[in-house]
Amino acid sequence: MYASLQNVRYLLHEVHNAESLAQYPHFADYHRETIDMMIQAAKDLADTEMYPYFVEMDHYGVHYENGTIRVHPQLRNIIRKGAEGGWVGATALHEHGGMQMPELIFNAATHFFHAANNGVVGYITLTTGASRLITNFCAQHLIDTYIPKMYSGEWQGTMALTEPQAGSSLSDIKTGAKPTDQPGVYHISGQKIYISAGDHNCTENVVHLLLARIEGAPAGTKGISLFVVPKLKPAADGNLSPNNVTTAGNYGKIGQKTYTTTHLMFGEQGICEGYLVGEPNKGLTYMFQMMNEARIGVGLTAVSTATAAYYASLKYANERPQGRRLNEKDMSLPPTLIINHPDVRRMLFFQKAVVESSLSLIFECAKLQDLSHVATGEAQERAHLLLEILIPVCKTYPSEYGCQAISAGLQTLGGAGYCYDFPLQQYYRDARIMPIYEGTTGIQSLDLLGRKVTMQNGTAAKVYLETVTATIQEATRHETLAPYAQRLETALTELQGVTGHLLGIAKEGDQERFLSDATLFMEYFSLITMGWQWLKMALVSENALSGTSGDEHLFHKSKIHTMRYYFHYELPKTQGLATRLLETTYLTLPGEEELLM
Ligand SMILES: Cc1cc2nc3c(=O)[nH]c(=O)nc-3n(C[C@H](O)[C@H](O)[C@H](O)COP(=O)(O)OP(=O)(O)OC[C@H]3O[C@@H](n4cnc5c(N)ncnc54)[C@H](O)[C@@H]3O)c2cc1C
Repeated sequence: MYASLQNVRYLLHEVHNAESLAQYPHFADYHRETIDMMIQAAKDLADTEMYPYFVEMDHYGVHYENGTIRVHPQLRNIIRKGAEGGWVGATALHEHGGMQMPELIFNAATHFFHAANNGVVGYITLTTGASRLITNFCAQHLIDTYIPKMYSGEWQGTMALTEPQAGSSLSDIKTGAKPTDQPGVYHISGQKIYISAGDHNCTENVVHLLLARIEGAPAGTKGISLFVVPKLKPAADGNLSPNNVTTAGNYGKIGQKTYTTTHLMFGEQGICEGYLVGEPNKGLTYMFQMMNEARIGVGLTAVSTATAAYYASLKYANERPQGRRLNEKDMSLPPTLIINHPDVRRMLFFQKAVVESSLSLIFECAKLQDLSHVATGEAQERAHLLLEILIPVCKTYPSEYGCQAISAGLQTLGGAGYCYDFPLQQYYRDARIMPIYEGTTGIQSLDLLGRKVTMQNGTAAKVYLETVTATIQEATRHETLAPYAQRLETALTELQGVTGHLLGIAKEGDQERFLSDATLFMEYFSLITMGWQWLKMALVSENALSGTSGDEHLFHKSKIHTMRYYFHYELPKTQGLATRLLETTYLTLPGEEELLM
């Protein structure tokens, strides 16, 4: 088992009320039966086409030979069947050939893909993201040329942002775009590095959504434009000809070895055409509109990988005999299973606590994304603000704590965890990229504290506090949950104190002191947010206990127990973080002398 259908259904239907989205005409098709059918279809695809190849594809890797890249042949089937199932354009409008699927359902369904084989899903979802930019901002002739080929899985999409000197800081992008006689057509020159799915032999063409600077454009972010740059140029009759996009290499890396990470040169050996998306100099604005989806997507990959690692380590702990129970004096008895050692149970509960709350937060954000599109008035505005403040958390906590959870999973297996015979080492290697791409943890933390907490004079923060408080109030009415509601309320009050203290420093005008511990603030804020998700789940499970029996009853009891674990073992970490964040001694600021030696 690499993911739980029972848990996904529970989160969708009981915690996040997915069916409520069907009240909006845009999502009218998505009633419970359809939702369950789509989830089952995704799981079937993951079970048959993805999971069986997880280890094999890692061993096979990616081969760069004479300017071309060869990947495992199964990738062709995965892309084709993913496209046939409608997953590339799942969330797109009917008029564009999509299924108008809510993001909530899409994320729940693709959780199975990521958990089954995390390194292959980007080949599908990058095409989704790239095609979304084309449908949202491009002229009709570009939509007609590119979208059918992308939705059918014949053409791959990418996001080509990063350059050697411009990683976290996209304002330093240098790739150039020179206007031509033809409106909207530019000549592109420059290089991009680390481009996922940037080239491979399983699709006929690759379509790069590329950031570049038009000649004479202003410096910084205000001078960046977005272009469609195909590897092969489609002519009116459908023929394809080279567009001078050269693959200079594929980066070898520790994980996600199935996923190509390319170094691309544009226009180095001749003219490379790019087609302007929307208006000049608005490239980053368009890209940022895709950012929320992409950040939820990375959080989802992280939690799904950690979920698969959790189930693998749980299985091992239930099979591996070693040592005796701590109170056992009779050494002639056979060894006990390692799941009976409290320290092993602690590692398993830690994983379960991290992955199940992370998945719940992903679903929370995906639903907010849906509501911010289809709701109206105050409901729409609140969904938008809450989503904005949660997005950096939704990317970062599953990524950072996901890595820690997988490390605990690997540790659960002892020596076997480190060896190739078991998949834990692969999950560990694969997951390490999550805190890095799509905005590093450092960058997400600057976004949370520097922008989102202060957004619209603190309105997003206010909506967050009100929403968490509503859950606390509901839980307070349950005798068994009231002590946990109380703990979360105390943490929330402390959060306001800590935030007030930091904003006081910001008012003094010293951004460097204000933001120096932004990543610690991120962890602090995230731990409270996950406490909120656990309380939400516990409320549902507490209410369900009396009406259930057998496995279902046990499922809810396990949820409540893990919520208690979270509040007793994880939430207290906020106290140490608060202590640090309230201190006024700064030891990490650069000074006149370099003290790191
Ligand atoms: C496997 C892989 C796949 C990728 N896929 C893609 C892709 O498909 N498309 C694409 O465009 N890019 C892609 N990337 C690039 C990725 O998004 C960047 O690596 C990432 O944004 C970080 O940029 P960088 O590597 O230049 O690191 P840097 O920006 O140099 O950062 C190095 C360190 O400094 C910190 N740092 C930098 N600036 C600040 C600051 N202002 N304040 C605080 N800390 C800071 C960072 O947090 C980090 O810890 C991929 C990268 C990898 C490794």
